[in-house]
Amino acid sequence: MTDSPIVLVTGVSRGIGRAVALRLAASGHAVAGCFSAWSEAAEQTDAAVRALGVPTYFAPCDVADTAAVDEFVRAAEQKLGPLTGLVSNAGLTRDAPLVLTAPQDWHLVQATNLTGTWNVCRSVAFRFMKRRAGAIVTISSVAGIHGNVGQTAYAAAKAGIIGLSRSLAKEVGGHGIRVNVVAPGFIETDMTDALDESLRTKALGQITLRRFGRPDEVAAMVQFLLSDASAYVTGQVFQVDGGISL
Ligand code: NDP
Repeated sequence: MTDSPIVLVTGVSRGIGRAVALRLAASGHAVAGCFSAWSEAAEQTDAAVRALGVPTYFAPCDVADTAAVDEFVRAAEQKLGPLTGLVSNAGLTRDAPLVLTAPQDWHLVQATNLTGTWNVCRSVAFRFMKRRAGAIVTISSVAGIHGNVGQTAYAAAKAGIIGLSRSLAKEVGGHGIRVNVVAPGFIETDMTDALDESLRTKALGQITLRRFGRPDEVAAMVQFLLSDASAYVTGQVFQVDGGISL
């Protein structure tokens, strides 16, 4: 048990989730984090967060599995204490034109990104409502706002996250709980490393700041939205995209 604020970050092992965990740990948050399986990256992130002097509860948990998420949240609170914040970040892509998308890829993308967000919000919001406090940040994408060629499944899931988050913000605002969405553009992680060179060059040409973002630049917005500095902000979508949507 700890007296620190305690945040749950899904998809904590790599990329944006890792940057969020490190930034929040540096400001004194204990971190509960999940990922799909233990890996060198997950172990390194766990060690790096603990090196900042805060306790962690890191474990694999498939966010698409409702019962597994409930069990993860229960175990995290048993080890660390009551959660004060949630960052629903775990996600994946299976990019292909709609007519070439396999049904199982559609279902996997919805299960991980959208159902995964619903599962963690459901488990955590119930606890936050009883305590009449808590802040939730969900991670969508500019694709969920504007759409993107080759991303019908992903964009649908990320648009769903916005609808889910705005509705939840209305449901729980009276209980003192805030819910906001961060919609990143192109951020340098394993997810964008997978893009081929021609797509990267095309994307760069559309970004006003002429570069991909860094995970910590998304984490800075997440930290703001979890903090009291945003105490009067809820139900909003914040694009961290270098101006790609201008
Ligand atoms: P990465 O691919 O770098 O990392 C994904 C993370 O999600 C990993 O920790 C992975 O765990 C975890 N994860 C994947 N599936 C599951 C699952 N079923 N259950 C639990 N954890 C899971 O992604 P990014 O950091 O780039 O992306 C983070 C979020 O930001 C995603 O929601 C993504 O859609 C969104 N986003 C990213 C953008 C970008 O340009 N990078 C742009 C817009 C949005 P493991 O290590 O075990 O695989």
